Amino acid sequence: MNEKPTISNLAAIDAAHHIHPFSDMKELNAKGTRIIERAEGRHIWDSTGKKYLDGFAGLWCVNVGYGRKSIADAAYRQMQELPYYNSFFGTTTPPAILLAQKIASHAGPHMNRVFFTNSGSEATDTWFRMARVYWKALGMPEKTLVIARRNGYHGSTVAGASLGGMKLMHEQGNLPIDGIHHIGQPYWYAEGGDLSPEEFGLQAARELEAKIDELGEDKVAAFVAEPIQGAGGVIIPPDTYWPEISRICKARNILLVSDEVICGFGRLGSWFGYQHYGFEPDLAPIAKGLSSGYLPIGGVLVSDRVADVMVNEVGDFFHGYTYSGHPVAAAAALENLRIIEDEGLVERIRDDIGPYFAKGWKSLEAHPVVGQADCVGLIGGLQLAADKATRRRYAKPDDIGSLVRNHCLENGLIMRATADRMLASPAFTITRGEVDEMVGTLSKALDHLA
Ligand code: PLP
Repeated sequence: MNEKPTISNLAAIDAAHHIHPFSDMKELNAKGTRIIERAEGRHIWDSTGKKYLDGFAGLWCVNVGYGRKSIADAAYRQMQELPYYNSFFGTTTPPAILLAQKIASHAGPHMNRVFFTNSGSEATDTWFRMARVYWKALGMPEKTLVIARRNGYHGSTVAGASLGGMKLMHEQGNLPIDGIHHIGQPYWYAEGGDLSPEEFGLQAARELEAKIDELGEDKVAAFVAEPIQGAGGVIIPPDTYWPEISRICKARNILLVSDEVICGFGRLGSWFGYQHYGFEPDLAPIAKGLSSGYLPIGGVLVSDRVADVMVNEVGDFFHGYTYSGHPVAAAAALENLRIIEDEGLVERIRDDIGPYFAKGWKSLEAHPVVGQADCVGLIGGLQLAADKATRRRYAKPDDIGSLVRNHCLENGLIMRATADRMLASPAFTITRGEVDEMVGTLSKALDHLA
């Protein structure tokens, strides 16, 4: 009884019983799954004993690296003291209170409240409802429409997948739901034509203004975007983009929602992505780096503008999750944020490892198949190009990206590809040597295209 199953047993059980998210199950069942068994620092090991440098921090989340015993200890202690109590009906728990305070301490003077969820997707559903409730409470119930971006990613719930701009997701389940509209993305390399990146940034931002005018300012509740579009391919906007978006949202009186699920908690070398780009959102969903993935937890940062209405006008928001502010997840998140603070990891990204990573990453632009390699902090996007001079892209972008990613994998590096863009998002603790290894392995993988 209770004998540890062998690896081949596990793979067979997986094939028989497990449906994986975002995986081609037909292909997986034919080939068998990769089973990850342990991890330490920036490395993971699969069940064959093969070691990989994780250039992706799990799924953009294991920011303090693997094997942090103090996070496990914090969760263990909390689990013994109070494994669960909820934040419904007038109660809550100490870790949830302290975590809300800690997050607010980094969020800027205008952001002082947090609504907790278990994931980024639930955070999306939360702000989506909150934005509509906000306008209704102000006597503008017709302000319900939300504008998002093509190729954005905001989660997999029905509202999340609808707000996201992923065609493949929309095709499954008859999405988007009513009331959601999409505009273009600030993807200069592919869509900028003859414009300079700065000109294109303004043009892309002004699509928002045109869309608001088309729909009617009095009908639009909010605009949502990631400071840097992550799953869509690490699309780094031109510098002109965010100031113009911010100006338009203010001028047209619509809420600005900054999806901080990837950019939040330090990845750009600032606590939040909106601080890097210098704007003040009204709502900001968070998750991933909040606990570095050690336990599931997310939330929505709520600005004073929205909180004043939610607290003083609405009062009771009929919304919440059984595990909103789960005490064990909150205790783990508090310890994760303590590590980020005490080890100065945000400053390290801004002043030390971020610039070092940028030098290595941008050096890849010398490679004949790389059209552009850009990055901010510890997030990088690398554009593959069939012809650098004309910015011509490969005919089958998905195949090209997968090919490079698979070569990296064979050589012990986890990278992600979105079509013809290679994405990097390593742990904040990555060493200079590991940055060199990552860039070197990726460069060799690119040689297969040249
Ligand atoms: N928002 C962004 C920007 C994300 O990248 C993700 C997940 O990758 C989500 C929301 C959804 O978060 P979750 O997968 O925790 O539901």
